[in-house]
Amino acid sequence: MLRFEGVDLHYGSFRALSDVTLHAAPGELVVLLGANGAGKTSIFMAASGIQRPSAGCIRLENKDITGRRPAQIVASGLVHCPEGRKLFPLLSVRRNLLLGAYLHRRDKAAVARMLDEVFALFPMLAHRQNVPAGSLSGGQQQMVAIGRALLGRPKVLLLDEPSLGLAPLIVRQVFAVIERINQQGTTVLLAEQNACLALAIAHRAYVLERGRIALEGGRDALLHNEAVRAAYIGA
Ligand code: ATP
Repeated sequence: MLRFEGVDLHYGSFRALSDVTLHAAPGELVVLLGANGAGKTSIFMAASGIQRPSAGCIRLENKDITGRRPAQIVASGLVHCPEGRKLFPLLSVRRNLLLGAYLHRRDKAAVARMLDEVFALFPMLAHRQNVPAGSLSGGQQQMVAIGRALLGRPKVLLLDEPSLGLAPLIVRQVFAVIERINQQGTTVLLAEQNACLALAIAHRAYVLERGRIALEGGRDALLHNEAVRAAYIGA
């Protein structure tokens, strides 16, 4: 579904990604683990066309999307839900959500259907759809960010640190919804520092260290890997 082959990414002379090869098969939920600065966001920036790789190839459903414009990539079915949510705080929750459907705006019936699906996943957003997004709690804002991404009708959804800054109970709710989105058929690539929770819902995971893939494996193998436990999970 999504495949990186030998991808390098530079910021000026700094090499943020080195020879990254990874994939997410259709229907998979794949987790990217790594410390701050390991390169997780850079992988998403490259996939969604915000940063252009300096080497290698990125394929979506076997189509080469390397270096394409972000709007073309969204139209092909890859949608990026960024770290820090990046909502428009003064716009209503509903307007923020509808921005995600910008490419499909002429298909009003489909947009209304998708909006209903998002409200079914996050009933609280239906009740608060007319308030400014900036007035919501962090967890509710994360739900808006995920809902906005879903309105882009992703085949592959990139979720960058959705648990950042949220209380543990809210994190569990957000992760339960991510698992449900995946079970409904969307392929998910999830970058997370909360390794324990992320691996609990993952099929497979990659560990990134200083821009390189250091380890990859199935959920159970990584959960029981001593280096992973020491670095990301603890006792
Ligand atoms: P975090 O969880 O802190 O966001 P990350 O694993 O997502 O970390 P990246 O944000 O991809 O890591 O950053 C990888 C490296 O690239 C870091 O050393 C970072 O400082 C650097 N970097 C990221 N964006 C830029 C930029 N726009 N210009 C220069 N260097 C950058």
